[in-house]
Amino acid sequence: MKAAVLTSPQEISKQPLRIEEVPKPKPEPSQVLLRVRACGVCRTDLHIVEGELPVQRQRVIPGHQIVGEIVEGDLPEIPLGTRVGVSWLGGIDGTCWYCKHGFENLCDSPTFTGYTVNGGYAEYAVARADFVFPLPAALDDLHAAPLLCAGIIGYRSLRVAGVQSGERVGLFGFGASAHLAIAVLRAWKCDVYVSTRGASHRKLAESLGATWVGTERDKPPVALDRAITFAPSGDVVVAALASLRKGGVVAINAIHLDRIPEFDYDRLLWGERQLRSVANMTRADARDFLQTAAEINLRPKVTTFPLNQANEALAALKRDSIDGAAVIVP
Ligand SMILES: [Zn+2]
Ligand SMILES: [Zn+2]
Repeated sequence: MKAAVLTSPQEISKQPLRIEEVPKPKPEPSQVLLRVRACGVCRTDLHIVEGELPVQRQRVIPGHQIVGEIVEGDLPEIPLGTRVGVSWLGGIDGTCWYCKHGFENLCDSPTFTGYTVNGGYAEYAVARADFVFPLPAALDDLHAAPLLCAGIIGYRSLRVAGVQSGERVGLFGFGASAHLAIAVLRAWKCDVYVSTRGASHRKLAESLGATWVGTERDKPPVALDRAITFAPSGDVVVAALASLRKGGVVAINAIHLDRIPEFDYDRLLWGERQLRSVANMTRADARDFLQTAAEINLRPKVTTFPLNQANEALAALKRDSIDGAAVIVP
């Protein structure tokens, strides 16, 4: 099969992914083989490819927003031909303290799709049978792919931030994840304040119903109940903190931050403001979000790339030149 393979992480401009012919993977008894129909592109892929996350395998096929059709696997509950999604959390040990206490997102020995195991920038992929999610029929392959990490983890971020119906919520950065989160927030009757550097991202936020839109240097005109940051930047986290009311919460939806700058505790955190990180996802997040997405008829804005332009897709993501989500179609 054809796949985009990472052998040594480098700046995306140096085209670290190589398009190769590699053996088609063989599923183990607990796995299914998927023919990949689409695979979403996530900022985490960029961090893996550029080496901002530690290397886990000598050779890895990235991609953890896989829409695939089951072509092999002996599972009575999931018939062959079923269209399923695979996300970032590819498996857990099921035995550690976190797994036993309902925090499988924090498992001590997890597998991550497209990072510790091969992912979906390929014509075929294997996945653990208990970590695939049947997809709503209403969503075609291209529009389902970005839901699988951008959507699910964005949704988890809203939960971690403790968003209640009708609140004022800030979104700092407006890429794939935020443009899905705003639809959920609007469905929950929240007022959404979007701060982002790209002019086209601000336009998109306006068209999706943001109450207020500004650049990364503007401060929202009201104190916010909650804020979610999506950019891999500590400065953005501090800007989000500065926008909160007392008792407000910032949830950081980023697997990697450049740094956390010094900030003034008395002014920015005192008053029971809270700063939380969002790590991974649970299968319950996936199921709840996919159901919500079907109910509110969530339709991401997508830009497609063929598999042999995987490097270009990641480079465009890095430049912030994609409105909505990038999706690779093998
Ligand atoms: Zn565990
Ligand atoms: Zn992701």
